[in-house]
Amino acid sequence: MRRYFVAGNWKMNTTLESAKGLANAIAADVTQKSPMVDVAVCPPAPYLVPVREALGSSKVALGAQNAYFASPGAYTGEVAVEMLQDVGCKWVILGHSERRQLFSETDDLINKKIVAATAKELGVIFCIGEVLADRQAGRMEAVLQTQLEGGMKDLDDGLLGQFVIAYEPVWAIGTGKTASPAQAQQVHAVLRAQLAAASPRAGSIRLLYGGSMNAANAAQLLGQPDIDGGLVGGASLKAAEFQQIIAAAQ
Ligand code: PGA
Repeated sequence: MRRYFVAGNWKMNTTLESAKGLANAIAADVTQKSPMVDVAVCPPAPYLVPVREALGSSKVALGAQNAYFASPGAYTGEVAVEMLQDVGCKWVILGHSERRQLFSETDDLINKKIVAATAKELGVIFCIGEVLADRQAGRMEAVLQTQLEGGMKDLDDGLLGQFVIAYEPVWAIGTGKTASPAQAQQVHAVLRAQLAAASPRAGSIRLLYGGSMNAANAAQLLGQPDIDGGLVGGASLKAAEFQQIIAAAQ
């Protein structure tokens, strides 16, 4: 059985104080109420250590929003997988559409990062998603397949234990336009089938939905058979709202 997984992607938001406060509030809530759900928060890099301290011994895992594939060395501005693990990260988000669009990340670069992270057993939240024009032109499935295959190329099947996929339709991110539960389920079922063709472990890979998930729509989205959790942006910045999403998963 796949356990639900709810991850907060804080993006380039929060201050030192608000990040610690948010982490404290989420940690307290999860410890008491959500034994059936895996929860992670992914703060901006400078706040990883203080957020880890605020999370204390709670079950909330720490995640980063990016990593570079190379071992530590002369890569100004980049952060290595080893460094993320050194400060307590269990997860890293890779392939997010904002990185693809704003920072020109290609399937090839994302693949190198995924291979590097999984080889060191850092959990990966691998994001894929189509833009509205792809959907309207009937290219959605092909685009998703290219992203899946490109990102997962040369990935050792044995390393898929801590590997989750987040389907995030780009037109739904930060727009308030959520995919309907039926639309999201339909894509998740297609992804599940595409994965099954590539890996015998497809059935155990968790597929998260992301894109304007909030307290009001989480229960319906999470109630779909192939939606195993959420990657939550805006709504993860408000402790009470994020807690309601976790409660919906629970
Ligand atoms: P959103 O972002 O929930 O604000 O739409 C989700 C994401 O980009 O991971």
